[in-house]
Amino acid sequence: MTRSEFIKAVVANPDGEIFDLDGYAAVGADGPILAPLNTTDTISLPFGSELMMLPHRRPIVFNLQHQQIERIDENPYIPGEPIFPVAAFNSPGYVATHVSAYEEIGSTHPLPLFSYGAVGWALGGFRSAAVRVDWERRQDLRLMPKDGVLGGVQEMRQHLPDNRLREHLENCALVYGYPAGKNFFLQRYEAPLPTSGRCNARCLGCLSMQSDSDIPCSQQRIDFTPTAEEIAQVALVHLRKVNRGVVSFGQGCEGDPLLAVNVIEPAIKLIRRETRRGTIKLNTNASRPEVISRLLNAGLDSLRVSLNSIRADHYNAYFRPSGYDFGDVVESIDRAVDHGAFVFINYLNIPGFTDQPEEIDALTELLATHRVHMIQWRNLNYDPQRYWLAMGKVSPGSKPIGVRNGLNRIRDAFPNIKFGYFNPPKEKFGHILRHRY
Ligand code: SF4
Repeated sequence: MTRSEFIKAVVANPDGEIFDLDGYAAVGADGPILAPLNTTDTISLPFGSELMMLPHRRPIVFNLQHQQIERIDENPYIPGEPIFPVAAFNSPGYVATHVSAYEEIGSTHPLPLFSYGAVGWALGGFRSAAVRVDWERRQDLRLMPKDGVLGGVQEMRQHLPDNRLREHLENCALVYGYPAGKNFFLQRYEAPLPTSGRCNARCLGCLSMQSDSDIPCSQQRIDFTPTAEEIAQVALVHLRKVNRGVVSFGQGCEGDPLLAVNVIEPAIKLIRRETRRGTIKLNTNASRPEVISRLLNAGLDSLRVSLNSIRADHYNAYFRPSGYDFGDVVESIDRAVDHGAFVFINYLNIPGFTDQPEEIDALTELLATHRVHMIQWRNLNYDPQRYWLAMGKVSPGSKPIGVRNGLNRIRDAFPNIKFGYFNPPKEKFGHILRHRY
């Protein structure tokens, strides 16, 4: 390979200024496998992605002169000045194939709850080690003008003045800037219906609850339970206005919606009493099959089940479930399919674990024996090195085969299973993109 095919390493100085390094190529980590990145296995950094400097860590790069992978501690342009690795938090719709390569130095805290894709510089711009899995522009920030969001907020205040869920979503859209909240006020695509303050799992990377770690939560968990009427009001505004609209229980700012069945079940009935339009969806850990059946009978259209692994022991090590097991999750999938609902797996990826042969084999086995309509390939927001450690304690696993190869293996074995990132409306469930990576 010639020098021009590699992408340059990018690093940060102590002030967080990001720059590229002459003479060094960027390196991506796929678990223990470190490899210099080139222009063919990277893409232009997707619009809306963010670059992050990783404190208390040192970059691992490829020295082009010595043709070796090495750690660098100092800024080659300013001797004595420390430098830090840089990672990409890719926009929704893209899944990382490699994580940023670095070494921790001294005693460090885990990284905050984001994903840490490998990134470099070539062809006049940043390049990301990622593949695109969804082409919809649902969370494209260019389509979410601030004026439009503010206008929608004013309109909803008049329309639903006393609705606490509407007020909660305002905070979501205006204070935290979450795309799902903004889309409710812009009346497009999918509206969130956060409901539950409780959960029966303790995920290592739970965004809204970290009870036994010093990792800061990236979302604040909802601190009240909306009534069924409040939920139905918000959902109906969205479903009546939006063509092919989706409303979803189970958001990053809540626990698991199955623990709020007492309000969700009547809310679904209220919605379906008023309209057949749109898709009602549940994002969940799928821990309670009997509750899933109740919600399906009430009018739920689709179920999205979050999994970090298809192997029970690795699932348990990450989800740390209480009062349920992996068998319950699979039973929920089967019940939803038998009922005629559309079932998606929200498959939380970190390269180096998700692309281990044992994990791909387990996914293949699940898909061969239980009907699933779609896999949503998502980046797991968790410190990658700590994740490899936690999963490696369960079983070390074999050498990863590469995220692209993993995706292609599943695509070839199950050509009728849809790949994507976002929740499709029910009208598009049958449409399958047969993309290879
Ligand atoms: S299932 Fe969801 S709400 Fe519950 S601990 Fe895991 S991430 Fe948090």
